[in-house]
Amino acid sequence: MQETHTLETIPTPAFVVDMKALRKNASILKEVADKSGAHILMAQKAFSCYATYPELAKYLSGTTASGYHEARLGYEEMGKPFGKETHVYAPAFTSEDMEKLLPICDHIIFNSINQWKTHRNRALSFVKSTRTPSFGLRMNPEYSEIETDIYNPCVTGSRLGILRELVDRELGTATVTEDIWDSSIFAGIEGLHFHTHCEQGFGPLQRTIRVIEEKFGDLLSLPQIKWLNLGGGHHITKNDYDREGLISEVKRLSEKYNVTVYLEPGEAVAIDAGYLIGTVMDIVENGMKIAILDVSAACHMPDVLEMPYRPPLKGAFEKDEKPYTYRLAGNTCLAGDVIGDYSFEKELRVGDRLYFLDMAMYTMVKDNTFNGMPLPSIWLQNDGGEVIGVKEFGYDDFKARL
Ligand SMILES: *Cc1c(COP(=O)(O)O)cnc(C)c1O
Repeated sequence: MQETHTLETIPTPAFVVDMKALRKNASILKEVADKSGAHILMAQKAFSCYATYPELAKYLSGTTASGYHEARLGYEEMGKPFGKETHVYAPAFTSEDMEKLLPICDHIIFNSINQWKTHRNRALSFVKSTRTPSFGLRMNPEYSEIETDIYNPCVTGSRLGILRELVDRELGTATVTEDIWDSSIFAGIEGLHFHTHCEQGFGPLQRTIRVIEEKFGDLLSLPQIKWLNLGGGHHITKNDYDREGLISEVKRLSEKYNVTVYLEPGEAVAIDAGYLIGTVMDIVENGMKIAILDVSAACHMPDVLEMPYRPPLKGAFEKDEKPYTYRLAGNTCLAGDVIGDYSFEKELRVGDRLYFLDMAMYTMVKDNTFNGMPLPSIWLQNDGGEVIGVKEFGYDDFKARL
């Protein structure tokens, strides 16, 4: 992997991170952070290609994690070497998790009152020499504009976050004062976390904040509450995102409640910042032409099936828009391992290379070896177009997990 390549010469299947595009996203986020005072973290669940962390560290406040492994990666690759923040949230932590998270995390966010009760004594008695982690609770404001239930944390019956009524039940009152908070189980909680967005603009955030202020404004006003984390799902780096609106809203919230505002986008960091490159292995016919590729929806881009969506492909068009239409499908035994139908100006041939776009986020972190499918190698493309190898995988990686 030492030799350098171009996009056209690397062996497939391969993920290539476009460093120029990644840097552009990161610099937009830095500008928002600088102008608003928000701390912007990268949610590693979307993108954990840590070879890029030294570059991202120049622009971001740190990383957030969905559990111990991601938290440790964020700490080892960005937090510790670059003096950045490491945050973590999970629906539940074990005591073993807590022992490992306390020394490496700046914020630890609990999903339920019971989780806080379980870990509170250990958490509050832990004092690190250099810094003490800050503890927060994830709240469920029961308001989200996400229309796909699988991505909606406020869907009926959701396990994600604490309802306001549960806080009141715990305190035995709906009027919360400084003294009541301090003499309750909540003493030691310094922040509130809300995550209710997915690929959304500023409008939904503004409306969500209105609900958050109505339902949780009294808690945010407590002097004990020092930070407000507005989660991820903000499409901040999209061209049409109202960044000025976001900046003024972050400033207003920070001033009104005397809190540091955190944003933790995943997608916005890595959107449109990479390729998945595949090769046509065969073309078969069954009512239409079907190209079998060495990249798989099921193994390499599972969101294509989960969301579902049809990923953009360089040089390809809608079905039947151009003379040659193909169904593109993976080399697995899953009948539904179909990436989508696309048309082309020219006939596809065995050996042709295909460049799927916007493949940096929610791909590498989700890929798997179902059917023993090879994992795509990972490469970084620098500003000059040169592509440098990061990692390749083989049989041992497949075997090691089983
Ligand atoms: C998924 C998630 C994120 C990141 O979401 P994106 O849509 O990738 O921006 C941030 N925080 C939490 C708690 C999440 O669950």
